[in-house]
Amino acid sequence: MINLYELSFDELSDYVVQLGDKKFRAKQLWNWLYNRRVDNFDAMQNLPNTLIEKLKENATLGTLNLVAQENSGDGTEKRLYRLHDGQLIESVLMPYEDDRRTACISSQAGCAMGCVFCATGQMGYSRNLTATEIFEQAMRFARELEADGDRLSNVVLMGMGEPFHNYDATLTAVRRLMDDLGIGARHITISTVGLVPQIRRFADEGLQVRLAVSLHKADDTERSALMPVNKRWNIQELIDACRYYTEQTNRRVTFEWAAIADENDTPAEAHKLGRLLAGLLCHVNIIPLNPTGGYSGMPADSSKIEKFINILNHYNVNATVRVRRGIDISAGCGQLKTAVIRADEIN
Ligand code: SAH
Ligand code: SF4
Repeated sequence: MINLYELSFDELSDYVVQLGDKKFRAKQLWNWLYNRRVDNFDAMQNLPNTLIEKLKENATLGTLNLVAQENSGDGTEKRLYRLHDGQLIESVLMPYEDDRRTACISSQAGCAMGCVFCATGQMGYSRNLTATEIFEQAMRFARELEADGDRLSNVVLMGMGEPFHNYDATLTAVRRLMDDLGIGARHITISTVGLVPQIRRFADEGLQVRLAVSLHKADDTERSALMPVNKRWNIQELIDACRYYTEQTNRRVTFEWAAIADENDTPAEAHKLGRLLAGLLCHVNIIPLNPTGGYSGMPADSSKIEKFINILNHYNVNATVRVRRGIDISAGCGQLKTAVIRADEIN
């Protein structure tokens, strides 16, 4: 079986010829795949039946196997897909009142970064996703929205895994989101734990794709305890790379801050963060920690968060906190539930 989403236009043309049809059919087929976004071959009305039958026998429209789905009262939809080798990954769709439809997608099965508060980090690393596996998660939502006369408008790489630990596949998938699904670069966000060389490389790509950086702590020793990656690239190296990104792209960086009671919600921490970020083109998104089984931390109080934001404002650092999305669909989730909230703030 061939997954048609794996094929470039030229490859699709060759494939159509291989199936015994004319090359120009590839254009029609491509249109059904990426413009009309149908989910079955029978819907491809202008293709001859012989070709449709051959496609049904030899090809698939994607390989993600939906094994579970949860719908939240606020419209958020969370999915669990099984990949061809049995790996499980999550994707989330978040509809907004202003008509945005945001997909939160995974870049790896598991994650090697080991952040102690993160459900995916607690699972460990299984493997990288292919570019098509990443792309297809968004495609699935796009396809279903299209069938309802709706459109996928935004994508965030905030599901399972560290996108920059799977850099090439992530960038290929992001380019396909732009080229094949027509999603504007400014409507795509990559969230990273802080892999410094990749942030610099990303800055040089010449893309307008948004960057979010998971900071969570303004002190090296404490950040290293929460996020082992900090032992490899410390906060100053990370901020320098972020500054480089802002200079190259003229875009602000979003810093993600999972507010943890008594851990990073204090006035002292806010001052430290304010000093660190003062003068940098950035925004801080604060979201109370989503408790996970493997970590004892609790979410910070809203009153504390309010004070925290006020202090940051003294340094002319913008910060916001927003309501959670998909709060009622926590069962069996990695940290996607939290990513859902965070994505809400970024888009
Ligand atoms: N690996 C990337 C992207 C996936 S994680 C990264 O770390 O940025 C998406 C976001 O969810 C990150 O900001 C991460 O720090 C945050 N996150 C993970 N677990 C969380 C939890 N239990 N509560 C709040 N935020 C969490
Ligand atoms: Fe990996 Fe991101 Fe979770 Fe850290 S927060 S373990 S980088 S998915």
